[in-house]
Amino acid sequence: MVESTIPTERPVTGPNVPGWQVPSANMGASIGGTPLIRLKHASELTGCTIYGKAEFMNPGGSVKDRAAVAIIDAAERDGTLKPAGTIVEGTAGNTGIGLTLVGNARGYRCVIVMPETQSQEKIDYLRMIGADLRLVPAKPFRDPGNYVHHSRRLAEELGAVWANQFDNLANREGHRRAMAPELWHQTGGRLDAFTCACGTGGTLAGVALGLRELSAAQGMKAPEIVLADPEGSGLYGWVKTGDLSVTGSSVTEGIGQSRVPGNLEGIVIDDAERIPDAEALEQVFALLKHEGISVGGSAGINIAAAIRVARRWGPGHVIATVLCDGGSRYQSKLFNPEFLRAKNLPVPSWLA
Ligand code: PMP
Repeated sequence: MVESTIPTERPVTGPNVPGWQVPSANMGASIGGTPLIRLKHASELTGCTIYGKAEFMNPGGSVKDRAAVAIIDAAERDGTLKPAGTIVEGTAGNTGIGLTLVGNARGYRCVIVMPETQSQEKIDYLRMIGADLRLVPAKPFRDPGNYVHHSRRLAEELGAVWANQFDNLANREGHRRAMAPELWHQTGGRLDAFTCACGTGGTLAGVALGLRELSAAQGMKAPEIVLADPEGSGLYGWVKTGDLSVTGSSVTEGIGQSRVPGNLEGIVIDDAERIPDAEALEQVFALLKHEGISVGGSAGINIAAAIRVARRWGPGHVIATVLCDGGSRYQSKLFNPEFLRAKNLPVPSWLA
């Protein structure tokens, strides 16, 4: 076992982590420390060991709980977030869920701006937990009506703290200080590659920074950092050729970008895979059928990218990826045969 040299802001907890302890009564401490699961089907297909970080097990059900608590911690520390203050954020939903739950626990009001195209389940969940939800029409980033710009203006009007997850580096810092050392401990420092999709880039960039520091401290080669990108996103082209041009579209939510978010700036991404929806959904359904784990579309893209890397490199390698959120968040879309047929996507046998 190789020891982490990165000081962690919050205890790295979880049954698979040495020194695991029962989290304290503060709900923020129950974020992170998720299990690293060996994905049996993907590993058997490739002869590699492919692991998935079970981020759907966070209290708000997604990897974005980590960004939410890191952003709130940082705003409390630098004094911008005052007791009983208001937080405003533009989100595809999961960050809004994390912010609202942590906000509830610490006495902050959360105003969440979200494109109306996101899944009904996330909308219902945000309402259920008491978010002040503002749905806006989906617009490209260059349009002033885009949900991110909308949330910035609203924060100014309300005199509130704008979480600004895309450009707020507290986001990637949270992943650098927690997710990266967790992965390092859980794999005993034996990791050849990490594949990950990008919404804000917080997970990809933070894990890349953390794993590179941890391997450098041990004089070891750093794992290869591979972007898993959906169609309709410019980031694959940006990694491959420096060109952010976009083709196609995707039914996945929360990932893909037409610009380079602040969290990704200055971070070297070693390689990229562009994954069509059908290939991602095949992995979503295989995971459910073969190992009883239900995940959303971005996790499918991440697993599909890990399988491609494993096939390119051949048997014996160790690859980790992120199971970003759970499938029940997309029941009305990815697990709805009418939706799938309308999008020309495969329908799993048990739903046909
Ligand atoms: N998957 C899902 C389901 C998400 O909601 C998000 C964030 N919007 C991501 C992946 C991407 O995470 P990050 O923002 O850290 O790039």
